[in-house]
Amino acid sequence: MKTPKKRTSTSVRKLRVSDTVAKHPRPPSRRSARWVAQRLLELSQQLRKGSPLEKTLNSVTLAAEELTRSNQASLRLLDDSGKRLLTSARSGPSVHRRGAAPFQVGEGFIGWVVVHRKTATINNPKRDPRFVWRKDQIWTPSAVMAVPLITGKKCIGVLSTARRDSKPYTERDLELLTLAAHISEPYLEIARLKRLNESDPLTLLHNRRHLQHRLPREIQKAHRQGIPLTIAMLDLDWFKKINDTYGHDVGDEVLSELSNRLRWASRSTDVVARWGGEEFLVIFPKTSLEQGYIIAERLREAVSLKPFNTSAGPLALTISIGLTELEENDDDITFQRRVDKALYKAKRSGRNRVVKSRRRRRRKKAGH
Ligand code: GH3
Ligand code: MG
Ligand code: MG
Repeated sequence: MKTPKKRTSTSVRKLRVSDTVAKHPRPPSRRSARWVAQRLLELSQQLRKGSPLEKTLNSVTLAAEELTRSNQASLRLLDDSGKRLLTSARSGPSVHRRGAAPFQVGEGFIGWVVVHRKTATINNPKRDPRFVWRKDQIWTPSAVMAVPLITGKKCIGVLSTARRDSKPYTERDLELLTLAAHISEPYLEIARLKRLNESDPLTLLHNRRHLQHRLPREIQKAHRQGIPLTIAMLDLDWFKKINDTYGHDVGDEVLSELSNRLRWASRSTDVVARWGGEEFLVIFPKTSLEQGYIIAERLREAVSLKPFNTSAGPLALTISIGLTELEENDDDITFQRRVDKALYKAKRSGRNRVVKSRRRRRRKKAGH
């Protein structure tokens, strides 16, 4: 006879950050005052933990989505100029196709909120000029809301939500989103400053400082959990010629555009970092060498298939990529050394290619 699965009350009520997105129980259809208070309390507990930036951001978007009963919530943090996107997080399905150019400040609804520093609700996006329609849209929100995140005199980002069930957002929805934003602001500012410190100012990608703790952390995790980990080292081909011919400013434009292409062509779980100069390291967590090869090829093509538009006109560029997977006895030094060697081989064998490092063959133990 089948016995029904035992369900403890804590498994229903206690929500943890690790439960995010897929495993998270749906919020009730009617929000009682008690449920709202519990959900806000849970958010503040999660924020106080001081988790890594991605986790902190995700706990905010998930709370925003649930508190406002939305299909999607998104959080964008800006750099100190208030013009460039430093990092972002989302819960729920993406509105735009992957690879779509992100909205600039001042563009679209979110851009409007950054410029005007006002909370806003649009319950009829089709009629509202602040909402910009794009071809690369996957689904169409029937209502959107956004709250600017302000610390001191600066707008450091925007928290927004979207719905597609044709139900309008109410005053209460906007109040709850604003409250979630206010609770999160100081923690988001700390996380943002930390992220800025670990970002390269030209490209806003992670810098080497970030990799110094991120790579060992990913290596440890992969070893401990027995999951694959692959990294790629990228280097622009003949980049010195670009600098020598067109000057450093054009070289910098190329590096900015390259970083955008790498961001768009990689997956959201990949970690793209500027290693230094015109070399980039990409971490592919939970990814085997073969799977990593597919992404690395996509990165290579993202560069080679379309010329770069620069102030000196369109320039055709290519990158060389070395690729390697974590092995049993690797630490960060041996791992990096191998990826460097693979990149060197890619250069020597003609550039504009991905070279996988050969796996060391393990000696089979007798009797197995
Ligand atoms: P290869 O195909 O062998 O990689 O040739 P390469 O010319 O790209 O050679 P290398 O990788 O050694 O060249 C590095 C060049 O990158 C030299 C330097 O002028 C340029 N560079 C490094 N950092 C920056 C930067 O921040 N801005 C600009 N504009 N150029 C940079
Ligand atoms: Mg180089
Ligand atoms: Mg180079």
